[in-house]
Amino acid sequence: MAALSSRILSVTARRSGLFTSIRCSSKMMADPLEHATGLEKREMLANMAGNDDPYDMKVFKRGPGTKDCPTVVPSAFEARIVGCICEEDSASVAWMWLKQGEPKRCGCGYWFKLEPKKPI
Ligand SMILES: [Zn+2]
Repeated sequence: MAALSSRILSVTARRSGLFTSIRCSSKMMADPLEHATGLEKREMLANMAGNDDPYDMKVFKRGPGTKDCPTVVPSAFEARIVGCICEEDSASVAWMWLKQGEPKRCGCGYWFKLEPKKPI
């Protein structure tokens, strides 16, 4: 009876995966790049290529901001929301929509222009 119960216990343990988890823990984790797909993978590849801001989310420094030389903002879309900190010490941001082909002037006088960019 004891031999039969130990055999049943052994078979049950093998089927329930108790030994499987021990075997898997000794393996190394796979490279995250191999598991990533779609947009996440393209973002990882852009970071590996040296582009740490593939979505252009960092703050752009304004240029002269005149109508002839507006601050250029890249976008892979037809329009993009842009915020202008009109004065250096300002605590608020003036938000506006920029559309492709339509340079826009902020209330403070600076001009912005959307430039087409290839999506990642
Ligand atoms: Zn402004």
